[in-house]
Amino acid sequence: MKVLSGIFKQKCPVCHKGNIFSGWNPFNWGKMNTECSNCATNFEKEPGFFYGAMYVSYALAIAESVGIFILCQLFFERFLDPAMIIFILAGIALFSTTNYKLSRVIWVYLFIKKPKV
Ligand SMILES: [Zn+2]
Repeated sequence: MKVLSGIFKQKCPVCHKGNIFSGWNPFNWGKMNTECSNCATNFEKEPGFFYGAMYVSYALAIAESVGIFILCQLFFERFLDPAMIIFILAGIALFSTTNYKLSRVIWVYLFIKKPKV
């Protein structure tokens, strides 16, 4: 539970206290901190570390698209209506800042662990 809570609160994966992003607003791009303000854990292990977060962002966008598609089934008579594409694209655009932050946070949690003593 601490991991899920840390991911959604965008906290450091090691100490769960320092912020990964400077602003917590999900609809703002914000600025990513290079290291934890509490325990000085470096969030970017190597140059280009966050390229892999694109795969996480892609998975999040697909999941949201499927969710919007299922939601569209309540309002459209046809199973596949071309107008659904507009809603799905609008949803992806609306959640893009959230996906950007969430994918990076998940990526950090996947690869930066608390060192074993
Ligand atoms: Zn920390």
